[in-house]
Amino acid sequence: MLVEGNEVGVAMLGMSGFSVLEAREVAGELGLVVETGQVVVGCTGCGVRAVSHGRRETLIRDLPVSGRPTRLRWRKRLWRCHEPLCARQTWTETTALILGRASLTERAKTAMCEQVGRDGDSVAAVAREYGVGWQTAMNAVTVRGMPLIADLDRLAGVTALGLDETVFLKACRTHPTLYVTGMVDVRTGRLLDLVENRTAAAVSTWLDGRDEAWKAGIDTVAIDPYQGYATALKGHLDHAHLVADHWHVIRLANAMVDDVRRRVQQDTPGHRGRKGDPLYGIRRTLLFASDRLTARQWARLDAAWDAGDPHDETYLAWAVKEALRDVYAASCDEEGQEALQAFYGWAADSGLPEARRLAGTMRRREAPILAWHTTGGASSARAEATNLLIKKIKRVGHGFRNFDNYRLRLLLHCGATWHTPRAARIRGRSPRFAA
Ligand SMILES: [Zn+2]
Repeated sequence: MLVEGNEVGVAMLGMSGFSVLEAREVAGELGLVVETGQVVVGCTGCGVRAVSHGRRETLIRDLPVSGRPTRLRWRKRLWRCHEPLCARQTWTETTALILGRASLTERAKTAMCEQVGRDGDSVAAVAREYGVGWQTAMNAVTVRGMPLIADLDRLAGVTALGLDETVFLKACRTHPTLYVTGMVDVRTGRLLDLVENRTAAAVSTWLDGRDEAWKAGIDTVAIDPYQGYATALKGHLDHAHLVADHWHVIRLANAMVDDVRRRVQQDTPGHRGRKGDPLYGIRRTLLFASDRLTARQWARLDAAWDAGDPHDETYLAWAVKEALRDVYAASCDEEGQEALQAFYGWAADSGLPEARRLAGTMRRREAPILAWHTTGGASSARAEATNLLIKKIKRVGHGFRNFDNYRLRLLLHCGATWHTPRAARIRGRSPRFAA
C-alpha cells in the first residue's frame, strides 16, 4: 500500500483512527500532535447524539520513533450531551489504545514488557529509551507480565523437578544474605518459579499450591542433599526419585581439599607467606578434575607436593576428592557402588579428619547420590540449566531490592513463552551472515 500526503503520518503512527497533525523534534525527542477523526458519537448516558465541546490536550509516551523517545500530544475531544433529562453532561473521548490517565500508550507497555522480559534488557535502559522513569517502566512490565506469569500452563509437562538455592541479596548493614529457591524443569532448563528463602517451609508452601495431577507427573527431584529440601518433599513427592547433583557433592569435596591445604600451609614451619607458598600456588589446580589436567599442571602439582606437603596430607585429600569424582564417572549403578566403596576406603586410609567427615556425610546421603546413575543423567541437563539460571539471576537481578519484581523479571525471562511474530527479512540472507 502506497501512501502520500497526510496519509504518511497515519501510516507511520500506526494507531487506528488517529492522524498526525504535526511532528517536531525538541532536544532529541520527537513530539507528535495527534487526534482522532471521531465526529459522530452517541451520549454514553442516554444515546442521544453528542455535541463537540472543544478539545483538551493530554501527553502520552509512545514507542520510540527512529531511535528517539516519542511523546504524543493527543488533542482529545470533549463531548457534551444536550438532552435536559440526561445526567451525563460532558465527557472526553476514549480509545482502547490509550487508557484514561495513562502516561504510556497500551502498545508501549506491551513493547516495554517484551524488551525487559523476553529480551532481558534492563528496566533502566528501557525507561531511558522511552523517556520515562524507572518506576513507570517497571509498572508497564508488571501490568503486562503478571498475566503471563499467572498462567499456570507454563508449569505443564514437568517430569523432573530441580530445587536450587541462590543468593538474592548479599548481606549488608540492614540484612543478612538473602536467599531464594528456584524451581527448575530439569529436562528443559525452564525456570518454573522462585520463592523467598531456602527453607523446607518455603518449598513446601509452593508444593501446597500444585495440584495432585501435576505432582503425580514428577518422577525425579534433583536437590542439593545438604539443604533442608528433602524434608519439604515429604507428603508431596514421596513417589519421586531423589537425586543428588554431582556438583553439590564435588563442591563439598573441593571444600575439604581447601580445608586440608590451608591447615597444612599453617602447620608447615618455614611457611613462606601466601604468595610464595608452593601449596597456595596450586590451590586452583588441586580442584580441577584429574582427567583434564595438562602435563604442565601435573608437573606443578608434583613439584608443590614435594616442596610443601611433608606428610602427603594435601596429596591424600586430593586423592579422596578424585575417588569421589569416580562415583559420578561410573557408567552404571554397580560401578557407582564400587567406586563409592573405594572412596570410603581412601577416606578412611588417609587419616585426615576432614576426609573422614566428608565420608560420613556421604554415607548419610548414599541413596540420592547413587540414584544419579539410575535416573538417566537427569543431572547433567540440570547442571546446564542451573548454571544458566544462576548467570541470569546475577545479570537480571542487578539492582533489584524487591522480591516480587525480581521474580517477575526472571520468570518472564526464563520461564514464560513468548509468541511474538518476527519481522520479514529485508535481505535474502540472515544479517548475521551478511555482516
Ligand atoms: Zn445524554
